[in-house]
Amino acid sequence: MTTWTNWAGNVQAEVTVAAPATVTELQRMVRGAADRGQHVKPIGAGHSFTSIGVTDGVQLRLDRLSGIVRADRETGLVTVLAGTRLYALNEALWHLGLSMTNLGDIDLQTISGAISTGTHGTGGNLGGLATQVRALELVLADGSSLTCSTDENPEIFAAARVGLGALGVIATVTLHCEPAFALAAAEAPASLDDVLTDLDTNVLGNDHFEFYWFPHTRRVLTKRNNRVLPDTELRPLGPLRRWLDDDFLSNTVFDRINRLTTRRPTLIPRANSFAAHALTARDYIDRSYRVFASSRTVRFREMEYAVPRAAVPQVLAGIEGYLERSGEQIGFPVEVRFAAADDIWLSTAHGRTTGYIAVHQYHRRNHESYFRAVEAIAKDVGGRPHWGKLHYRDAESLRGTYDKLDDFIAVRDKLDPNRMFGNAYLARVLSA
Ligand SMILES: Cc1cc2nc3c(=O)[nH]c(=O)nc-3n(C[C@H](O)[C@H](O)[C@H](O)COP(=O)(O)OP(=O)(O)OC[C@H]3O[C@@H](n4cnc5c(N)ncnc54)[C@H](O)[C@@H]3O)c2cc1C
Repeated sequence: MTTWTNWAGNVQAEVTVAAPATVTELQRMVRGAADRGQHVKPIGAGHSFTSIGVTDGVQLRLDRLSGIVRADRETGLVTVLAGTRLYALNEALWHLGLSMTNLGDIDLQTISGAISTGTHGTGGNLGGLATQVRALELVLADGSSLTCSTDENPEIFAAARVGLGALGVIATVTLHCEPAFALAAAEAPASLDDVLTDLDTNVLGNDHFEFYWFPHTRRVLTKRNNRVLPDTELRPLGPLRRWLDDDFLSNTVFDRINRLTTRRPTLIPRANSFAAHALTARDYIDRSYRVFASSRTVRFREMEYAVPRAAVPQVLAGIEGYLERSGEQIGFPVEVRFAAADDIWLSTAHGRTTGYIAVHQYHRRNHESYFRAVEAIAKDVGGRPHWGKLHYRDAESLRGTYDKLDDFIAVRDKLDPNRMFGNAYLARVLSA
């Protein structure tokens, strides 16, 4: 047995590790575990904050199932092995003249882990990573293999793109990619009121718009990333500026500030004001995946709620009101992103235009009162929690906001009646 810990350090499990090198070996391992009556759980990069990836049985590490199986530049269809890390995928795609349409803010996750929890970036006209999936090859609880797409097993496809690791082990993912593109990034400080007043224009007038609100201030940092024409010359950040902003200020200095304010929380409002002013405007043009992803070395805990886009100002006002009333001091900016509605059953953007509000807490500080308060505010507007980030909801409370939850459970009953891929988290959010 080996002790496994997730990235945030808040979830541990004693597991038996198995690391298949081929899909056939993966099928054999799943069959073997079924014969022994063991639970099985594939794990990606362990970047989920929830215990969604925990098992008391066999942990399938898919690092050896990595790389592109086939790619068609004409159609943009690319089939990749399940354990492929996003950073490796992005680089390989670029050399094929292709790019992912949208990405989140880091690139360490595996493609399967990312889609399974509904990982997303930002873009008012774009969906999360799972909306780029065109087919999945699954290894089921008996070790057999099943392919699903909109033409083949469409119900399973609607469920499995954001499948929470509950339906089977994804062996390959077929993605629809686009001709490689670069992004012009424009980052600038602004006032929260200005951003909220022009919210729709900001969201719909940019390919990718997001902002970070510094609690206890009325300041935000805005990020607008827009596609440039194919022959535009790249103007990446110089190594010094990148190091200063992304490594030194956003990680090293930020960590020191967090250590200090953990001892003296009353300094947080001043620290936030300092941070809001220290991050100055910058513009650059780079390969899309380099603009999307940054490095995060400061450990934190996170909760993220998907709410109707129109409710974003109300939720932020609710959080501000809670902080004022409670006197709680929060040193991490609140990240606000956007997505178009999609048709994936358990996608947090299913059927509605979405705003995402993510709250963070330094790993040495208690997050619970803050997260529970934000959850109550988001729940009031029909909020849906990110499946990979901390929350306190169960199936009963989620049913009201996911009209396809019971259809998902029916697919699960068919594919995994004995709950070989089950764990305590899934029992909570899917009711046993
Ligand atoms: C620093 C940081 C930044 C983040 N940024 C973002 C962001 O910008 N946007 C966002 O939406 N989220 C973000 N997240 C959350 C993260 O993207 C998700 O939690 C994602 O699921 C992590 O991918 P992973 O490969 O680590 O999966 P894991 O956490 O290892 O696994 C997640 C789930 O996927 C299942 N799974 C893994 N592989 C398979 C497979 N082959 N078949 C079936 N199921 C499988 C696991 O069993 C588990 O249930 C961030 C997390 C961190 C720590």
